[in-house]
Amino acid sequence: MRRRPAAVPPLLQRADEAYVMATAVVGGLACILGAFEPTAVWWLRWVLLWLMVGVAAADARNRASGRIDHRALGPYEGPVLWLVLALAIARSSGIPELEALPVGLAGFLFATTPSKVRTPALAAVLLLEVGLAAAGRLSGGLFMVHFALYGLSCFAFSRLGSYQRWMVERAQAKARAAADAETRTRAEDFGVHTRQAEALPRMPSLEEHNTGPAGSRQALDFVEQSITLQLELLRTSLELNTAVVLWHNRDLAELHLRGVSTVRDDVRQGPFAPGVGIPATILREEVREMQVAPVRAGLAMLPYYSEGAPVGGLFAVAIPHRVGATDALDAGVDGVLCVDRERTERFTDAERTVVRQTARKIAMDVACGRVLKQSEHDRATMSRFVVVLRELNAQLGLEGVARAASKAVKTLFSVDLVAVSELEGDILRIVHADGINADRFQGLQFTRDEGLTGQAVSKRVVLPHGGEYRGVQPIFTASDRLGDLHSLLVIPLCPPDSDPDVPVVGALTVGSREANLFSPQQQKVLELIATTLATKLDLARSHEKLRDLATHDGLTSLALRRVFDERIESMLQRAERTEGRMALMLMDIDHFKRLNDNYGHTFGDEVLRQVSAVIGRAVRKVDLAARYGGEEFAVLLEDANEEGAVQLAERIRRDVEALVFDFDGRPVNVTLSLGIAAFPRDGGMPKELTDNADKALYKAKQDGRNRTISFSQVVVEVPTTPALSTP
Ligand code: GH3
Ligand code: MG
Ligand code: MG
Repeated sequence: MRRRPAAVPPLLQRADEAYVMATAVVGGLACILGAFEPTAVWWLRWVLLWLMVGVAAADARNRASGRIDHRALGPYEGPVLWLVLALAIARSSGIPELEALPVGLAGFLFATTPSKVRTPALAAVLLLEVGLAAAGRLSGGLFMVHFALYGLSCFAFSRLGSYQRWMVERAQAKARAAADAETRTRAEDFGVHTRQAEALPRMPSLEEHNTGPAGSRQALDFVEQSITLQLELLRTSLELNTAVVLWHNRDLAELHLRGVSTVRDDVRQGPFAPGVGIPATILREEVREMQVAPVRAGLAMLPYYSEGAPVGGLFAVAIPHRVGATDALDAGVDGVLCVDRERTERFTDAERTVVRQTARKIAMDVACGRVLKQSEHDRATMSRFVVVLRELNAQLGLEGVARAASKAVKTLFSVDLVAVSELEGDILRIVHADGINADRFQGLQFTRDEGLTGQAVSKRVVLPHGGEYRGVQPIFTASDRLGDLHSLLVIPLCPPDSDPDVPVVGALTVGSREANLFSPQQQKVLELIATTLATKLDLARSHEKLRDLATHDGLTSLALRRVFDERIESMLQRAERTEGRMALMLMDIDHFKRLNDNYGHTFGDEVLRQVSAVIGRAVRKVDLAARYGGEEFAVLLEDANEEGAVQLAERIRRDVEALVFDFDGRPVNVTLSLGIAAFPRDGGMPKELTDNADKALYKAKQDGRNRTISFSQVVVEVPTTPALSTP
């Protein structure tokens, strides 16, 4: 590494630049003038020689520490001085054979330094020879011989090969060896290291052209890429500062940073001592997870930050060794997933679930990497496998995950049907179908006991045995026996060998017209995809829940006021652009204060929940139902006029009226008043439209409550004080 030159005053710096060259010039002149002839004054010879040796040594030291480049003459002076010194030594020795010294050095410099360095040096030595000849210290014949020797030496050295090239090659080899050692440690951490000699039984090639064994490199790539992706997704969805994976290398007694996604620039790479901070507590398996929020200032609990670096809140969970375990402590802990952020609020239940599932996903990826390592596919198959799994890992949403898994299967096998079904309660629903009858299967719902897919989920086993299909049993529902399929596998989506407490999230159904397509090894690959899919679907659900929580009210599950404000804006813009229409409905529960006072707040909350459920059920997917205030609700109706809105409003009003609540065995009823305004007639701006719907609602209250009023029915002299608290 290059050190910065110390600040030297400009004058001294000039002198510093020149002293090497000055010494060379003095030495050269002395040489021509005969100061190095054996007959010259001995002490002058010695003073001059030692001066040159001293300066050359100082220059060599500067070179070694990289302090050469800043000097104007820097790279050239040294070689000039070396050659002059070599010539001086040769002359003062009186031994003719020592003439080989400057000749050899010149050849060496010629072959190993760039032309701008060697040219001044070679010019200097030739000048010296000419000077010596002119001063009569070298006969014409000898001068010619020297001249020829210099040429010969340069030619010989350049044929010997470049010293520089050799140096570069050696440096590269060293760097490669260091990188290999580092890769090996990484691979060993995840247990995906393999030696060529340990080759396990080979799987039959899935590809015609076999390009040799894949080794652990691709398994390691897969694991590392996947961890990075998961951390990236986690960091963005939880608005984290940093998400890291620390791996415990017990042999080296070190914590290794094996994945990081961060917005900070002070994350240290480690390795870290395994005995300190929050990760240590988890690795000692005292607790499975830990939350600290708010973090007291100056407390260094995360080894990868410089001490006392500010953190708002942090959460850390164990990465279990065995993926299928519900409790990581049963199975041992391989590493820790640590997340932190600036905010000091505690991580919510939903957020912690996402972190926990990411830890499980990472454990799964490492396990997957181990299987990949063992499977010894050819390189091309491995590459494709890594690519498709990577695509699967990059997905966040339920449907994206299902689609990517289906693509993965289609890329690796010649199949005619792939379906991913999701289990919710007792109902299975096909989230994504591809191939035969895909249109019909997409979105199909069925129970657990209808076909092979349901049975596989119920029994947690892969069906049918051996992957052979005779077209007798239905695959999803009674009406879909696919007679032209000959190979079939239905794999339940849960981690392999997992505890019965770990829920099954769905099934992967794969079929082909080809007979005997699924050998035991190929079944293993499909199971690997299914396992990745299982953890990924679980994670996708948690992410969806997290997103819901950020946009939906906790009590009623309706959209938040903030979402309403955004949607009314965009819906109005769209209606305006397409010259379409839309309607707004505002609702307020009648005499709700009285209800609260008579039956208590908890009862009031239950009423809010059930009324919200009625509203939520009544609206279409394209509409938006929101909790507008305490016991006030708003519905945005896409592409609806006043008439349509009134119809819907009346249905909601009647349904709410029909609700019967129980208070200590006594029936209690509630009613709702509704006001409607429609675009474009009742307003074009969000505020205008809500104000007018509010006026209609006020009139509904005034007219006796439990009714629907549209703005068109509001007479002009309505008082301006609105019934609702405006935002
Ligand atoms: P009106 O028929 O004129 O609407 O009469 P009201 O009693 O419903 O009057 P208003 O709409 O002003 O009453 C709002 C009440 O709703 C006040 C507040 O105590 C209650 N409330 C607001 N939010 C909640 C909540 O989250 N839970 C419960 N239980 N009550 C709430
Ligand atoms: Mg109110
Ligand atoms: Mg009210």
